[in-house]
Amino acid sequence: MSKRALITGITGQDGSYLAEYLLGLDYQVWGLVTHRADPRASRIGHLMDEVCLLRGDLTNADSLVAAVDKAQPDEVYNLAAMSFVPLSWQQAELAADVNGMGVLRMLEAIRLVSGQNGPPGPGRTGDMRFYQASSSEMFGNAAETPQHETTPPRPRSPYGAAKAYGHLLTGNYRDTLGMYTVSGIMFNHESPRRRPGVARKISLAVARIKLGHQDKLHLDRLDARRDWGYAGDYVRAMHLALQQESAADYVIGTGHTHSVRDMVRIAFAEVGLDWRDHVTSGPGQDEAAETDLLRADAVRARSRLGWRPTISFEELVRMMVDSDLRRLAGDRDAVAYPRTAGQVG
Ligand code: NDP
Repeated sequence: MSKRALITGITGQDGSYLAEYLLGLDYQVWGLVTHRADPRASRIGHLMDEVCLLRGDLTNADSLVAAVDKAQPDEVYNLAAMSFVPLSWQQAELAADVNGMGVLRMLEAIRLVSGQNGPPGPGRTGDMRFYQASSSEMFGNAAETPQHETTPPRPRSPYGAAKAYGHLLTGNYRDTLGMYTVSGIMFNHESPRRRPGVARKISLAVARIKLGHQDKLHLDRLDARRDWGYAGDYVRAMHLALQQESAADYVIGTGHTHSVRDMVRIAFAEVGLDWRDHVTSGPGQDEAAETDLLRADAVRARSRLGWRPTISFEELVRMMVDSDLRRLAGDRDAVAYPRTAGQVG
């Protein structure tokens, strides 16, 4: 019998890669989609005949109970979030509701549906396994570098604070209630399917500049450094983390940082241009409260899960630029969100 997985945030970058990965492992894949989403026009448009979709929202507890009850999953991957850090300053309450309280609602839905809602007690095991998409943003102004599973949270944004709450709660449900819950503390990961943050802003701009649609790209902080990996590698870690005999938290990252300047240099070189002819920089507001010294210590993921990234930083940047260039040049195979017919339950 094939395993069943329920993915929240299935229309997002990670959700779409994870759905493809689990389908390849012969899972029956269920996905939670919001009422505002059009899955056919999303990153999973090409999977519409293979996944079962349910409408629901992390802000609505009843919809989560109904989804878990219907899907009866062996594994739940909670990837849904308001995922753009700067936006969490404009919609701080929503960030707390979705990224923090949403985790609580999902854990409670699993507890209720799987019959684990008896009195607390360590050592109890449930049928459903839970993965929470935690974020290195919760380390914020980090107490130490690199960061590992026990580095204390010191978030510097409503996004980071809400993620920290979800992360701590996931540990509480494991340690106190005995549920199989895993928190993957993921560092930045990108792909051609990434929403336009720093990396995708660069790859899109490079493609547009190459095609003559724009001339300049403004970036606030060229010296900002990040631990950047490829999303396809990170969904493999999510799955591995739920296959272990006992549940634990895992830092997922490459352990190497690169600057925004490194990224623009590689990105422009990929299309035969010199970045210095096109990039302007200066202080801006969006990245004012961003973090500087986030670098993963993923030794636990390496030793216990055997996980290693397979795509280098250079390969990732080139992949994103090439994809955006082909897409903007009208190559239908490069369209990030293929459209096909399908049904939503
Ligand atoms: P995306 O922004 O690509 O996807 C977010 C998904 O969440 C979308 O499918 C979105 O659906 C869904 N969603 C948003 N709000 C709700 C809600 N209220 N109820 C249900 N679904 C909702 O994010 P990524 O794929 O990049 O990230 C996946 C997870 O990993 C997120 O939790 C993110 O915070 C976390 N993470 C990501 C990192 C990265 O570098 N990518 C780093 C660390 C953590 P819709 O489009 O309909 O709103």
